[in-house]
Amino acid sequence: MGSVVDAANKEVNGTSSAKKPTVIFVLAGGPGSGKGTQCAYIVEHFGYTHLSAGDLLRAEIKSGSENGTMIQNMIKEGKIVPSEVTIKLLQKAIQENGNDKFLIDGFPRNEENRAAFEKVTEIEPKFVLFFDCPEEEMERRLLGRNQGREDDNIETIRKRFKVFLESSLPVIQYYEAKGKVRKIHAAKPIDDVFQEVKAVFSPEAEKVAGQWHLY
Ligand code: UDP
Ligand code: MG
Repeated sequence: MGSVVDAANKEVNGTSSAKKPTVIFVLAGGPGSGKGTQCAYIVEHFGYTHLSAGDLLRAEIKSGSENGTMIQNMIKEGKIVPSEVTIKLLQKAIQENGNDKFLIDGFPRNEENRAAFEKVTEIEPKFVLFFDCPEEEMERRLLGRNQGREDDNIETIRKRFKVFLESSLPVIQYYEAKGKVRKIHAAKPIDDVFQEVKAVFSPEAEKVAGQWHLY
C-alpha cells in the first residue's frame, strides 16, 4: 500500500489501487468430468483457492436463506440459478479470502452469467480450463459415485447435458474466440489427466519462482 506501484495502478485504473485477483474458470460438459478432483490437485500444487459455484449454492440452501427453495428447485431441474445470486456468493467468497488467485469451478454457465460477472467484478479470467469428456463416460462415472446429491440421477444428468449444449457451450465458444480455452482430455485415468493439467499451469509456476529451467 502506498508504494510507487500502487500509485501507478491508481493512475491507470482511475479509481482504486486494489489489485484484482487472478481468476481461472473451470468448466465441463456435465457432472462426472473429474473437474472437482483435478481442482483439488491444482490447489495443492499451484496454490489456488477453489471456489465451486455449485457448492456455494448448496451451502446457501442449507443456511436457510430466503432464496434457498428457489435455488433447490433450479438445481433439481439442472437449471441455471439467476446470475445475481451466484455472483453475490462468488464475490463474497473472493473478498473473504486472503488469496489472490482463484479457480472458479462450474461458473459461468451461460452468456448472461459471463457478462454479468465481468461487468460486476471487472475481472476477466486468465484462461478457461475446460474438461472435455464424452457424455457416456460422465454418466458411467456418475452412476458409480452416488454422492447422495439430489441431482445425481440419470434424468437430471441428461437435463444438465442439454443445458450445457444450449447455454454453456456458447460461453466456451466466446472464450475460444479470444484464445483463452485450455482443453483437457478428461476421459482418462486421474493421473494422466493431471499430467495435462500440469502442463497448462506449469509455465506460470516457473514464472512465480522467478526462473526458467528445462525438465
Ligand atoms: N448451478 C448454477 N449456477 C452455477 C453453478 C451451479 O445454477 O454457476 C446449479 C445448476 O443447477 C447445476 C447445479 O448447480 O446443475 C450443480 O452444479 P455443480 O457445478 O455443483 O455440479 P458438478 O458438475 O460439480 O457436479
Ligand atoms: Mg462440483
